[in-house]
Amino acid sequence: MFVITQSCCSDAACVSVCPVNCIHPTPEERGFGSSDILHIDPVACIDCGACADACPVDAIFPADKLGTRDKVFLDINADYYKNNPDVTSGWSDVTYPDIPKLPAGLRVALVGTGPSGGYALRTLLDRTEADVTVIDRLPTPGGLVRAGVAPDHPGTKGVLHGFDLLYRDPRVTMATNVSVGQGPNDITPAELAEHFDAVFYAVGASESRRLGIPGEDLPGSTSATELVAWYNAVPGADVAPPIRHDDSASGRAVIVGTGNVALDVARILVSPPELLATTDIADRALHILEQQNVHEVVVLGRRDQAHAAYTSAEYRALSTIPGVEVVVHDDPEAPLPDLSGPADPSTRRIVFLFHSAPTAILGTAGVEGVDVTTGTRDHRIAADLAVRSIGYRSVPIAGLPFDHERGVFPNDDGRMLDEHGAVMPGAYVVGWAKRGPSGGIGANKLCAQNTVEDFISDAANGVLPRSAREPGDFGKLLRARTRHVIGYRGMRAIDRIERRRGQEQGRPRVKFTHIPDMVGAAGRRRK
Ligand code: NAP
Repeated sequence: MFVITQSCCSDAACVSVCPVNCIHPTPEERGFGSSDILHIDPVACIDCGACADACPVDAIFPADKLGTRDKVFLDINADYYKNNPDVTSGWSDVTYPDIPKLPAGLRVALVGTGPSGGYALRTLLDRTEADVTVIDRLPTPGGLVRAGVAPDHPGTKGVLHGFDLLYRDPRVTMATNVSVGQGPNDITPAELAEHFDAVFYAVGASESRRLGIPGEDLPGSTSATELVAWYNAVPGADVAPPIRHDDSASGRAVIVGTGNVALDVARILVSPPELLATTDIADRALHILEQQNVHEVVVLGRRDQAHAAYTSAEYRALSTIPGVEVVVHDDPEAPLPDLSGPADPSTRRIVFLFHSAPTAILGTAGVEGVDVTTGTRDHRIAADLAVRSIGYRSVPIAGLPFDHERGVFPNDDGRMLDEHGAVMPGAYVVGWAKRGPSGGIGANKLCAQNTVEDFISDAANGVLPRSAREPGDFGKLLRARTRHVIGYRGMRAIDRIERRRGQEQGRPRVKFTHIPDMVGAAGRRRK
């Protein structure tokens, strides 16, 4: 939980980035402008830290990081909600422009159930009377909230509860375990365009960028994307990174990049395994991390610390991992720490080396080290694992245009563009697939709202190509094309089983890792 303290400037930068609208009064509410500070609803806060990063005056802190002087603000924030029982967190404070008159019977397909898909669905249901069919290639919804958010950040995953409520809306049809593409069991983009009046692609960015240095493909050199998918139990990401753990192993991993994903990976690799055992981390990862016992992670930043890509809340949180020391080297003139031999097995450390870029990943059968340059000095770090965490790209979908240079679907503010740069009527893109891989969960809210507003304006102006198909035709196509479509009840059944298995072990959930097991758990009749 985060708390707003005395230096709050009430400019509401935090209000617009909060994914659960738990900061009040908002600019539209009574008391805004006259209230000394804004207040975080302690019950609704999902601990994502987006507010702390957006705060221009550094007034927002995690509750467990408050100085003695600021502890009083715990009560001040909470009391606001006791004294203003009419103020509710959630979606109630969103103010939209007037809704123009829209044609009746609009049918929309939404591909993807991550944050941008969830926010787009919320806005579609709030702002239109359209029926929405929600598709995801995995049986379980959540996109990067399930597959990307670190296992030791369970609060952040709370955003999915809000999305789950939307899936129960009578206007929503869930169809998970359904891929869009050109494979034999896939639904093609052309078929979606034919059966729906509009299609929203909220497919995120799930592929890693590459460094382009020698040794990048050695066993033990991997991307944060693959590593995170592995420890977050994503089906298909079954193969453990071969981290050396023989007598010659150094006990050290090197991560390239200083974004929040790099920090997530550093925390998970270096955390004592007994701490991870209480999370929803995949068992397959827990067992291997216990064995490998990485006890030092070196994070390489090519610029200085002031230009690190991580957000301050995430950086500050590193110092709270029990038994882990954080060491920072940010002076290019100062002697470099000697990392050429094995790491000290009696300590656990995260070492930030700024002004440092990798030039080669070394090894024969697997990673043995990383060559690094500071521009003026070259040095070698002994390592058993090298992880590039340098940003994501969207994965192209056959049948849709793709900007290979930027790794996004070409679009004009969310309206998809064809290869000639012309708007494709009825095709929209939201989230990381639209604007690239930047911003936390809340950043997708405004992004999705804006694109849904474009859709509303297109629908009102008669520029949507209306589908000539009957409403039931798509369901028939789905059943003919793909054998195991999972609907809302099936999704809930998977969720219940995962949570029950977690409860038995004192964990939030134990995730399924194989699609056939998920299909079995969903049950044949649970559509
Ligand atoms: P990111 O924040 O864009 O960071 C990418 C990092 O890679 C930067 O340090 C960048 O350095 C470095 N980099 C890029 N190309 C490189 C190269 N060729 N050689 C060396 N370094 C290179 O990306 P991310 O960590 O994947 O995060 C994506 C988004 O998700 C961010 O907005 C992040 O805040 C968000 N996220 C948030 C949370 C959270 O709130 N807890 C958790 C995970 C992710 P330069 O800065 O020098 O370019």
